Amino acid sequence: MTHGTRLATRQTTRVSCLVSRVSCLAILAAALAAAALGAACGGGDSGTGTSKTVKVTATLGLFRDLVQQVGGDRVEVSALVPNGTDVHTYEPPPSRIVKLRQAKLVVMNGLVLEASLVGVIRENKSSSATLLELAAGLATLEGNNPHLWLDVQNGMTYVERIRDALASIDPAGADIYRANADRYLGELRTLNQEVTAAVESIPPERRKLVTFHDAFPYLAQGYGLQLVGFVVTSPGKEPSAQEVANLTQTIASEHVPAVFKEPQFSARVLDLAARDAGVEVCSLYSDALDTNVKTYVELMRFNAQELARCLGGAGG
Ligand SMILES: [Zn+2]
Repeated sequence: MTHGTRLATRQTTRVSCLVSRVSCLAILAAALAAAALGAACGGGDSGTGTSKTVKVTATLGLFRDLVQQVGGDRVEVSALVPNGTDVHTYEPPPSRIVKLRQAKLVVMNGLVLEASLVGVIRENKSSSATLLELAAGLATLEGNNPHLWLDVQNGMTYVERIRDALASIDPAGADIYRANADRYLGELRTLNQEVTAAVESIPPERRKLVTFHDAFPYLAQGYGLQLVGFVVTSPGKEPSAQEVANLTQTIASEHVPAVFKEPQFSARVLDLAARDAGVEVCSLYSDALDTNVKTYVELMRFNAQELARCLGGAGG
């Protein structure tokens, strides 16, 4: 049972300009240009503009959303992984690393979710930046499966950790972060009830999950679904013909009502298995947002409604 690469959370107060004088000058120039632009445009924001915003880089768009909910106007958040892209295999181009270098807070999940990004983060993160691993130390399933946020109760813990990290980096904003987090946590409590109610609307014998990748053990445990199978353990690996045949057989023998693909993956194998077994192909979101599902709340709400629609049966 490997723990993968763990990066320690550090809060050193070294001056970031020690890292690279050149990049520091570039950052300074960019900051001056931004300030000049802000002045020229009369300033869009209330407050004193860009100099006071806390720059944050998150690995996933999902985590960017959580930081934005808590940070509001006081933060400027970018994501390393573009929407609709698979985090497990993504390697960012230099253009996306610029903001990572400027970030005061870097937010990642940990537990090897960002295996292809850990090196990039380690090499480019400012030495004075804080690294927040959202899943660190939480109770995990299946030997450290990283997808904890698909249980909203874990999502709420992520939000609390983001609140505390922002308050520590920017103590002047602590009250605002606390108020924003309180409001958002209230929204997530309601969301958790919605997901619970959606799954409870499904007859117990139909609460079965077949998905593309192994992203849903926390959804299953949190809301009472049975994990029946998936196409790949980890994205980037092709399933063998035998594995696909086994999956098709499982779908039939378990009387699985529908299978779920994830929008960021082309799931031809799942389409074929579903066609052979004669069941519908539906969608569940896991790691990636897109133009249809733009926030964490929208993601979980979509999943709840899709589970109820595709597994619910509605009598027929
Ligand atoms: Zn995943």
